[in-house]
Amino acid sequence: MNDSPQRRLRLTWGGATDQGRVRANNQDAMYADWGLFVVADGMGGHQGGEVAANLAVRTMTRAKRDTIRELHDAVQEANKVVYETAIAQPELHGMGTTLTSLAVIREGGSRKFVALNVGDSRIYHYRNNQLTQLTDDHSYVAELMRRGELDEEAAAVHPYRNMLTRAIGVHSEVEIDEWLVDPVAGDRFLLCSDGLTNEVSDDAIAERLSIGQDPSATARELVHLANERGGRDNSTALVVDVQIDDIDGESDQGSVEHEDGGETPGVSPAEESTPEKIAATDAFELGTKSSSSYPKKQRSWLNDRVGISVATVLIASVLLIASAAMVATIGWYARDGYHVGVVANHVVIQKGRVGGLLWFNPTLEEWTEIQVAQLNDQDQRNLIAGKPLTDLAQAREFLAQLRTRLVDPDSESRGGG
Ligand code: MN
Repeated sequence: MNDSPQRRLRLTWGGATDQGRVRANNQDAMYADWGLFVVADGMGGHQGGEVAANLAVRTMTRAKRDTIRELHDAVQEANKVVYETAIAQPELHGMGTTLTSLAVIREGGSRKFVALNVGDSRIYHYRNNQLTQLTDDHSYVAELMRRGELDEEAAAVHPYRNMLTRAIGVHSEVEIDEWLVDPVAGDRFLLCSDGLTNEVSDDAIAERLSIGQDPSATARELVHLANERGGRDNSTALVVDVQIDDIDGESDQGSVEHEDGGETPGVSPAEESTPEKIAATDAFELGTKSSSSYPKKQRSWLNDRVGISVATVLIASVLLIASAAMVATIGWYARDGYHVGVVANHVVIQKGRVGGLLWFNPTLEEWTEIQVAQLNDQDQRNLIAGKPLTDLAQAREFLAQLRTRLVDPDSESRGGG
C-alpha cells in the first residue's frame, strides 16, 4: 500500500498522411488506438510497398502486446509475415517496410512507453521545449554519420540517402531497437516517415510542436509543410499528447479525445471491421514518482552479441539516378564469399552467404541500376534464389554477362523456354 494519488494517463492523438506531389500512390501506413501507435513506410515495386507496410501494421495490431516481450514478438511476427509473403508471391519479391511503434504497457503499478524501431521512420519526443529524436535511423547515411564519416550537410544530398540498412521483410529475422520512456504530463510524441523528415528540418518540427495546437492540427500542418517544401515522397505524421490527471474519489470516466487528421487515413489495418482508431481511457497508478524522465535506450540482445551496429542489407526506396555504376562498399566486417541477389527490386552484389548465416546477414557490396523486370525468366529465378560466387571479381563478371541478356520490360517478348 502506498498513499500516492491515483493518476490517469490520458492520451490524445491525431495523424495525417499524404502521398505528396511526386509519388503516384501512398506507401505509408499508420495506425493508432489507445496503447499502440504505428507508422510504416513501405518500399518495393508494383504494389509491394503498400502491401508490406499494411501487412506489417496489421500484424502488429493483431498481436498480443501487454509486455515488452510480446511487443518484440509482434514486430518479429510482422517481419515474418512480410518476408514469407514476399517469397510466396514473385511480384512482391523484394518488398519491405520500415516499422516504428510506440506502445503503452503496464509495469508494476505504473505505465511506460515502449518505442520499437526498424528502418528510418522516426519517433521524436518533445519535452520541456526540447525535441529529441528517440530512434536511430537504420540508413546508410545515418550509419556513416554515427561513425563520423559524414556530416549533416553531405548526408542531405548523398545519393544513397534513401537506402536502408535494416527493414521489415528482408530477412527471416530482424533486429529491433528499443527505448523505454516514463510518461510525463505535457510530453508530445511524433511518429513520422522519412517523407516528412527529408523535407522538414528538426527545428521546423520543434516549432510546430511548440505552438501547442492539438495533435490532429499539428499532424496536418507538418504534412502540409512537407508538401510545401517539395513533397517528394509520401509523408506521414502521427502526434500523441500525454496528460496525467489526478483522480478524485468519484470514478470519473474521463475521456480520451482523439481526432483523425489528414486527408487520407493511411490506416488500413484489416479488411475486417477492425476499428482504425479507438478511443479509450484507462486509470492507472503511478506507484513511484517517475524516476528517470529521460529515455533509457536498450539495444536488443542480438546487437549486443554482435557488438556493432552494422548494416545488414541496403534497400533503396527510390532510385534517383540511373548512372551506370552505383557502388556502395561497406566493409564492416569480413565474411565469406559473395552473391548476386535482389534487394528492393534491384540486382545487387552482396557480401556474405545467400540468406545470411545466423545473425550475420549479408551486407550490400554493390548496388546496380538493373531491375528485376529487366531480367529474363531464367535469370530472375536464379537471382531471386541468390547466385553464390567466390569473390567480387567473379560477381562483377557475372553482372557483365547478365547485362548482355537484359530484356526491355515494356516489350513482352520472351525468349522461348
Ligand atoms: Mn518514405
